[in-house]
Amino acid sequence: MSSVFLEDLDADTYAQYLGREASTVIIPTGATEQHGPHMPLGVDAMLSSAIAAAVAEEIGALVAPVFSYGYKSQPRSGGGDHRVGTTSVSGTTMIHLVEDVVGSFLEQGFQNVVVLNGHFENYQFIYEGLDNAIAKARASRTSARGVLMSYWDFVDDATLQSVFPNGFLGWDIEHGGVLETSLMLLLHPEKVDMSRVVDHPPAQLTNYDIFPEDPTRTPSSGCLSSAIDATAEKGQQLFAAVRGALASALISELQLMAATRKAH
Ligand SMILES: [Zn+2]
Repeated sequence: MSSVFLEDLDADTYAQYLGREASTVIIPTGATEQHGPHMPLGVDAMLSSAIAAAVAEEIGALVAPVFSYGYKSQPRSGGGDHRVGTTSVSGTTMIHLVEDVVGSFLEQGFQNVVVLNGHFENYQFIYEGLDNAIAKARASRTSARGVLMSYWDFVDDATLQSVFPNGFLGWDIEHGGVLETSLMLLLHPEKVDMSRVVDHPPAQLTNYDIFPEDPTRTPSSGCLSSAIDATAEKGQQLFAAVRGALASALISELQLMAATRKAH
């Protein structure tokens, strides 16, 4: 197969893949969300797609079309849903989207469905949809399995120290910060304008949420920390760490055979 992307395959090639042992599809999920003045709205979807493709090549999986809309951006992790450029779906919609799409892949014969999350707020709604779909499929076929993972959880401590030499403040405030900007500088440098980065201290956030949101409590840049220290070289370190760790977790979790790896 010349491409790991399902949307590039014809139906016969797709069907042949489905007949394989340990057939696995990775569904990348993102959002349409502002990422400050220096990056485009599609960052989360672009990053999860690129990482999914690299992992798919390692483990012999296919990559489904990305989920381009995500659950509501929240002030404490994405700057807030009020910001122009952010277009979201409700939790109920997200659950049903995941449940329907995962259910359809399992019905077509995939053994394993992996959802690779690229938008912080999506996680629990994907969890619900994936759990429901797998439970339903296993009523008639006990081999169906699912895995849910957010790519940033696979950055190891050594990489973290190298990328954040002044200390790491947490993934929630990395929205539009060094992690995403470095990965974009590596994967889509033409889509990043470092001259437009707003260099501000990390957002000081409450440890609770209020309704309605108060737009004055998050930086007007739309980012929760500064991307000024982002580089393509850091992006390369992050990408390599995440690709390797995700692939080895999936190989051991799904008992993928060596023969199915690199089989494209
Ligand atoms: Zn993002």
